[in-house]
Amino acid sequence: MGETGVIRKLDEDVVNRIAAGEIVQRPANALKELMENSLDAKATNIVITVKAGGLKYLQIQDNGTGIRFEDLNIVCERFTTSKLREYEDLQVIETYGFRGEALASISHIAHLTILTKTDGSKCAYKASYENGKLKGLPKPCAGNNGTQITVEDLFYNVLARKRALRSPNEEYTHIMEVVGGYAIHNSHVGFTLKKFGENIDIKTPINSSAVENVRIIHGNSIARELLEIELKDETLKMSVHGFITNVNYSNKKGSLLLFINHRLVDCVSIRKALDAVYSTYLPKNAHSFVYLSIELDPRNVDVNVHPTKHEVQFLYEEQVVERIKCCVESKLISCNSSRVMYTQA
Ligand code: ADP
Ligand code: MG
Repeated sequence: MGETGVIRKLDEDVVNRIAAGEIVQRPANALKELMENSLDAKATNIVITVKAGGLKYLQIQDNGTGIRFEDLNIVCERFTTSKLREYEDLQVIETYGFRGEALASISHIAHLTILTKTDGSKCAYKASYENGKLKGLPKPCAGNNGTQITVEDLFYNVLARKRALRSPNEEYTHIMEVVGGYAIHNSHVGFTLKKFGENIDIKTPINSSAVENVRIIHGNSIARELLEIELKDETLKMSVHGFITNVNYSNKKGSLLLFINHRLVDCVSIRKALDAVYSTYLPKNAHSFVYLSIELDPRNVDVNVHPTKHEVQFLYEEQVVERIKCCVESKLISCNSSRVMYTQA
């Protein structure tokens, strides 16, 4: 403990470890960042292997562009990115990443190893990192084009966090959720998720479809009850596409898979609006499955609200939510009445 009242500048490593804890709250957050990097690198196949809910071991292998050998020495430093140059670029950013913080953060709270090969390189390179810095020189080795990132002993130096996390099983459930969500939204990319040395839990093929992936991940009982939602609004500069369960379907938990400009986010106002619509059709305490992909003019969306980017803010929120609510409601009504007519006939 320091002397009372004396102001000191914090050690850089302390600052970085604190910042890292904000971005990575649990293994699923780290995995989300890593999957987004793979998608940014144009991967078409992503394989994830997990031990102990990702706390012991979390590995992600992609077939994307790879990381250039020359970049390996700075790739894990804070605020190093290949995706953003000027602040203004944020308005039109099309990549998930831009803060250059994910790899740095992870390297401050875990043992991180990168194995990567670009198309132009003769061999792959393997490099290990600690606190943002390379541990020794990258070693040439055999490997395919793309990147494999291995995260071991997450939170080994953040004991309070480690203690606060529940069981590995619960962490694994969160991991299944984010992998499932990204697989449904990015159905052109193949996703595989497995526990180390065990059977595969999720496997979606390359160039699949959203509905097919819902079937693979959530089962046919949901997939066969889906209604397609499509909406374009020129004034609000919005387009919406997605799939929602009809009023025949309900389950206890319910699930909302919401993407705004391709970012997996939560939005309380949309969640409430959907609950309100469904509550008139479903029994009490019963819920729907909803997958919506909303695209808004990037100039109307602020993705930089929080380091995890889990929240976004957008203009005309009330109108946007109302428009979506009406669209979902009319879809449910039209399908419900056609069902009634059908059974009466
Ligand atoms: P950001 O994604 O915000 O740029 P990250 O810390 O997540 O920051 O990644 C830093 C940089 O490392 C990226 O800008 C990218 O150039 C490179 N990178 C990270 N992961 C991959 C990957 N799987 N394939 C190719 N390049 C990657
Ligand atoms: Mg990133």
